[in-house]
Amino acid sequence: MEKIILARIGEIALKGLNRSVFERRLAVNIRKMISDLGPAKVRWSQSRFYIEPEDDTFMFEDALERLTGVFGLVSVSPATVIPSEEEAVFAEAVAQMKQEMEKRTVRTFKVETKRGLKTFPLNSPAISAEAGGRILDAFPELTVDVKNPDVIIYIEVREQSYVYSQILPAPGGMPTGCNGKACLLLSGGIDSPVAGYMIGKRGVSICAVHFYSYPYTSERAKEKVLELASLVSRFTGPMKVMVVPFTDIQLEIHQKCRDELGTVLLRRSMMRIADRLARKNGCSALVTGESVGQVASQTMQAIYCTDAAAKMPVYRPLIGMDKMEVVAIAQKIGTFETSILPYEDCCTVFTPKHPKTRPMLSEIEEEEKRVDLAPMEDKAIAEIEVIRFD
Ligand code: ATP
Ligand code: MG
Repeated sequence: MEKIILARIGEIALKGLNRSVFERRLAVNIRKMISDLGPAKVRWSQSRFYIEPEDDTFMFEDALERLTGVFGLVSVSPATVIPSEEEAVFAEAVAQMKQEMEKRTVRTFKVETKRGLKTFPLNSPAISAEAGGRILDAFPELTVDVKNPDVIIYIEVREQSYVYSQILPAPGGMPTGCNGKACLLLSGGIDSPVAGYMIGKRGVSICAVHFYSYPYTSERAKEKVLELASLVSRFTGPMKVMVVPFTDIQLEIHQKCRDELGTVLLRRSMMRIADRLARKNGCSALVTGESVGQVASQTMQAIYCTDAAAKMPVYRPLIGMDKMEVVAIAQKIGTFETSILPYEDCCTVFTPKHPKTRPMLSEIEEEEKRVDLAPMEDKAIAEIEVIRFD
């Protein structure tokens, strides 16, 4: 008897000829995710991945936990592998029920069976019925409830048989690294780490750009952003973070331009710089954490003005979400607690009192002529600091 992890794929099972490319990528990602947890084999067949520990040093529970965060998987189950023989299968069904009852109060159950091995003497309903009978013999206090049971014991009879009682959800999406690369504009807020996670979920690798306004924002504010990058990279894979010194540009705009247009001008400069850095790093899109109407710089008109400064497409995975929905994801992926640490952000330092919520692109472009940002943007790019998370 052997304990393994079964992992199920979602959308990539629908792929046609390219399917094996996605599966191979997913196998690489799974291996990498658990590489420090001890020796295990990773193989796959028919929409399933099998993670098989090679000895008892393998940290099973940790692996299970980590796999629930792997993009491309929809669910994982700890399962017992046994020979496809009637007595072995029924005994294991009873053993798993016993384990479940040790963990929590169980009153009702059902057994669900899939039989792939046609030479097995019983068909699926007969296997379920017999296993259910054995469980009732062992635990007469239980009853069968096929509609809403406390526990489901799953039996799969193939070349070997698998018995399990837990199906833990995983995020779905596409395996990281199979869908190109994008550059995330990462602030220290709640939204942008979630935006990075969301685009990463579609298989996109990411690098990040952070605009940093020392000494108006502190060293600790930068550390907070790096911590967020590290948290997001646990899901999205290795991430290069480029920290751009932004103070001079902020001061220039603050001193020479109309206060009410300041934020949009600043965001346009961010877009121009991010676009150039993205290009250098092989990205084909920018990603931000904006959502319509959240703040003055995220009205439809303001986003229009900001977008016009970028040459590559700007993706905004949170565009139609409410803050509460974003917060829920931030909590789920573990970035929320870091995001709400109270360090100032470069945008809050020079935030105008009455930002214009409906700026016109023509007035923004006119205003931009008052400052010569191009050489300052060149200089900022030349002076970036690079940090890598692997
Ligand atoms: P967040 O919670 O992500 O900080 P926000 O609601 O505070 O977002 P803004 O400050 O208007 O909104 O920023 C909108 C988006 O612009 C952010 O989601 C992020 O993608 C990008 N951005 C803002 N400030 C920075 C920064 N200092 N460095 C890099 N990107 C930034
Ligand atoms: Mg912000």
